[in-house]
Amino acid sequence: FSMAKTFKYIILGGGVSAGYAAREFAKQGLKPGELAIISKEGVAPYERPALSKAYLFPESPARLPGFHVCVGSGGERLLPEWYNEKGIELILSTEIVKADLAAKSLTSAGGETFSYQTLIIATGSTVIRLTDFGVQGADAKNIFYLREVDDADKLYEAIKAKKNAKAVVVGGGYIGLELSAVLRLNNIDVTMVYPEPWCMPRLFTSGIAAFYEGYYANKGVKIIKGTVAVGFTANSDGEVKEVKLKDGRVLEADIVVVGVGGRPQTSLFKGQVEEEKGGIKTDSFFKTNISDVYAVGDVATFPLKLYGELRRVEHVDHSRKSAEQAVKAIKAAEDGNTVEEYDYLPYFYSRSFDLSWQFYGDNVGDTVLFGDNNPESSKPKFGSYWIKDGKVVGAFLEGGTPEENKDIAKVARVQPPAQDVDQLAKEGLSFASKI
Ligand code: FAD
Repeated sequence: FSMAKTFKYIILGGGVSAGYAAREFAKQGLKPGELAIISKEGVAPYERPALSKAYLFPESPARLPGFHVCVGSGGERLLPEWYNEKGIELILSTEIVKADLAAKSLTSAGGETFSYQTLIIATGSTVIRLTDFGVQGADAKNIFYLREVDDADKLYEAIKAKKNAKAVVVGGGYIGLELSAVLRLNNIDVTMVYPEPWCMPRLFTSGIAAFYEGYYANKGVKIIKGTVAVGFTANSDGEVKEVKLKDGRVLEADIVVVGVGGRPQTSLFKGQVEEEKGGIKTDSFFKTNISDVYAVGDVATFPLKLYGELRRVEHVDHSRKSAEQAVKAIKAAEDGNTVEEYDYLPYFYSRSFDLSWQFYGDNVGDTVLFGDNNPESSKPKFGSYWIKDGKVVGAFLEGGTPEENKDIAKVARVQPPAQDVDQLAKEGLSFASKI
């Protein structure tokens, strides 16, 4: 029998949302000992996007404490000492294996129990593994996935150990694109494999993708589209040696990196809380249908007011903002007050090589490509608008200045009318700067 450790607030998960929630709690006023963050990871919350970018650079790679939250949004970096000063308990390297929302208690793999008055679920996503589908040989050594800092360390070591190696990147999403770039920077021979007709098909139009595929090809990245990895062979040490493709081709590989998507980590709460669209259903304050239980970041399916629809968003900007909104709502409720509804404008970005794009809004409807999307250009700058029901609802821009990125954000928020598509293509960015 052991006594439960009791906290007023527990944040379950120690990722991006957890860090931003902690900062908001500190801003709103917190007594020492009121808040605990419980995390499977061994480190304080950090800016996860760094893992597929600067963390793997060949020269002066980013390392903690350099990218703890909230440095990614321009705020003060929350070092472990910061939590200490605020009396926030960081309970690290602790995986919760059982959650009982009715009893308000959590149990760790080590058998400790924690109870709370208010719980914020911030468990994020987990990667989909090829072993989940029983892909033959997918448990070989040197087949990597990337979600947490431990994963990034293993990949980094393999990159260092296998100088001038051959790598196969499975998946053409943003993880696949960012990792292919950083592997190339490490002078590794890279082949990307994905089944779709172009990369990042969930966001990119064929016109946008053509630029990135051309640019990557110029950097020496080989791209094989329209097929998938169906098996792996290993050497006598159990290390991956070959990737077998569905179309019969066989690729040599010393390193394989798989980025085929993620899924929200909601399994602890199955049957205990209402779910929707694969996530935990919340209101505009990130409150679930269970009192005193909130869900933020990748796991939350929330009302996206701008589109009048419930959505789940797996991007860092939303993980920060949803965490802040939940904490503001919790604190206001304690004083009998309310806060304004969450009114989110979707914002995604990615960076690789010398490239950097931003996207705001909704990628639905007809599309218009504008600007210089020649991959050979010295300073390519191009974008796309999405037009639905005669209004511009989404905007993408590669190579924009901070000012120009603000302009496209404004377009996506304001949704100005656009009748003449050809005219819009001609005007390009100047259309956005007029809004
Ligand atoms: P996470 O940051 O994933 O944190 C979840 C935490 O919960 C983890 O620490 C996990 O260990 C912990 N946890 C889960 N279950 C348990 C348990 N049972 N017990 C204890 N702890 C638990 N988004 C962008 O917009 N732009 C980008 O460029 C970008 N790059 C990315 C690059 C990589 C490599 C990855 C993996 C993601 C990237 N993202 C990017 C997405 C972004 O990082 C996520 O949307 C964001 O981290 C979500 O925050 P979160 O707090 O919901 O979850």
